[in-house]
Amino acid sequence: MAKLYFRYSAMNAGKTTQLLQVKYNYEERGQTVVLFKPAVDSRENTSKVRSRIGLEANATLINTSTNLLVTLTQELQDHPVHCVLVDEAQFLSEEQVLQLCSIVDDLDVPVIAYGLRADFRGELFPGSKVLLAFSDSIEEIKTICWCGKKAIMNTRLLNGIPVYEGEQILIGGNESYISLCRKHWRQGKTSSDE
Ligand SMILES: [Zn+2]
Repeated sequence: MAKLYFRYSAMNAGKTTQLLQVKYNYEERGQTVVLFKPAVDSRENTSKVRSRIGLEANATLINTSTNLLVTLTQELQDHPVHCVLVDEAQFLSEEQVLQLCSIVDDLDVPVIAYGLRADFRGELFPGSKVLLAFSDSIEEIKTICWCGKKAIMNTRLLNGIPVYEGEQILIGGNESYISLCRKHWRQGKTSSDE
């Protein structure tokens, strides 16, 4: 019985590194993985998935109108697929998460989706909201705040200053992100020396 897995974390916790390790493990056993990546940011309109420690792999770029069930059904006509991996799964639409459920339930292919839980405002991403509701298995990938506590919040910095309002997805902006524990996200304290 295949399952739908949602592995979430704050930013820079190593989600993509884990994803690429899982892909490697399948392929080492001679099995085939399909890797989906939402094309959200026009700055990085590449089909490569890259982890911060330097690993990379080719992905199938998807947009909001891509039907994942149809795409996978077409793949299955050419060759068996042993696992579907999704990078940046927070950017999936609700419909696409339901398509992942069909891939698991009707095609019996396991799906592992990696993504952020909430945005810099503390609001769930659309894809994550549905993944949290529908996944068979929900696992947290942990990372730490500068204080040593677990970081669960994503903080958007504009010119180094935390901001709490704005569009969920900024394209082409000069923003950056850090992961903080909830206390330091609420305080906007981004390091020990303030
Ligand atoms: Zn902290």
